[in-house]
Amino acid sequence: MTKQPVIGLLGGGQLGRMLQEQAALIGVELVVLDTADCPTKQINQNDKHVTGSFSDAEKVRELARRCDVLTVEIEHVNTEVLEEIATKGVEVDGQMKKVQCHPSWETLRLIQDKYLQKEHFKKAGISIAPQVAVGAGEDMMRSMKEAADKFGYPFMVKARKGSYDGRGNFKVDGPKDLEEAVREMGKLSLYAEKFQPFRKELAVMVLRTEDDGGNLKDVHPYPAVETIHEDSICTKVFYPPRGVSAEVSEKARKMACDVIRTVKGRGVYAVEMFVLQDDSLVVNEVAPRPHNSGHYTIEAVPAMSQYRAQLSAILDIVPPQIKLQPRVSGAIMLNILGGGREDSHNSLVDLTRTVYDDEMDIFLHLYGKASKPGRKIGHITLTSYSPDTNLERLAAPLIKEVDRIRE
Ligand code: ATP
Ligand code: MG
Ligand code: MG
Repeated sequence: MTKQPVIGLLGGGQLGRMLQEQAALIGVELVVLDTADCPTKQINQNDKHVTGSFSDAEKVRELARRCDVLTVEIEHVNTEVLEEIATKGVEVDGQMKKVQCHPSWETLRLIQDKYLQKEHFKKAGISIAPQVAVGAGEDMMRSMKEAADKFGYPFMVKARKGSYDGRGNFKVDGPKDLEEAVREMGKLSLYAEKFQPFRKELAVMVLRTEDDGGNLKDVHPYPAVETIHEDSICTKVFYPPRGVSAEVSEKARKMACDVIRTVKGRGVYAVEMFVLQDDSLVVNEVAPRPHNSGHYTIEAVPAMSQYRAQLSAILDIVPPQIKLQPRVSGAIMLNILGGGREDSHNSLVDLTRTVYDDEMDIFLHLYGKASKPGRKIGHITLTSYSPDTNLERLAAPLIKEVDRIRE
């Protein structure tokens, strides 16, 4: 086998850890920039790792010197330095070496600003929630009132940059909340968005392949899944989506492909969507990387999980006859969020060993992270193999315990 290029990864959390699990299986070397004890490095001994932050330009340059290609497990990275490395290069032994990042720094920069991201999709004819930019300083209250006049109540005020797990979102229920919104969010660059009274949330992972010239080869969607968010954080994922027709799921896949045709760079992307009461679809946002809604593919699409797909796209080794259809009839993913005590989740871990049914497999993933309230510290995937199995009923004790430890 010819030597595979070495991949440098910005960020070493759980997504990197699951990427590493797959990288090990196919002999791909992953070099990580993050803290020394991060979840990814815990399972990947390599003396090329860089200790530091993915926001630190010099550390990113150091990572690039040690690798052939870069990728990210988080979009909130320093794109100025990624641009510099891709276009001018990084100095190695007096020579400039160019290292590309997948997805491209341009896509990361666009996606980092959720307002600009969605303006871009709107221009491409993709349906998004109506949105307006919110002014800063003295203009803030005035432009929030304008948003209220335009959208009515409730509406959402959102941070344009840096948000995840709903941190950076504020729901304005009425005029009484405006002052609090300014107080809580006023230091951030903001936009306002019309509230979407959705009946479901869906997500579609899309694999985008490109040739060496950066030309689109193809987009391959995984099936649509239903995502459940509680307190704005994803807690559960259901495949297939419950209460959504095959037509709507297909429409979601098509829309996700349309979205991902408009960005640049190889890799997997998540397209989050709202299903409105009339079954129309609105794109909420895109994540340019493996995603919580795709964890279930590790077991459900064992030959091409989202992590294997990410590596294959980056290295341009995606099989021509790629199959992304799950091998299971159903899957449920439950996030393990840290509870009130450091060991709150132990009862759930114990349950994964005692709950048993012939028709269901249970897969526990712990990320090697210290528990903190609300922090994603692991997940459980449940799978079934016959359309006659009621997986949700079999999973009920685990679902109940996941909900209990969040209380
Ligand atoms: P992520 O962790 O997915 O990156 P985020 O911090 O970027 O999350 P969003 O995806 O914008 O946040 O919103 C989180 C959740 O809040 C959504 O999945 C949805 O449940 C709810 N939400 C966001 N925007 C709206 C809206 N306009 N109308 C109704 N609900 C919304
Ligand atoms: Mg987001
Ligand atoms: Mg989101």
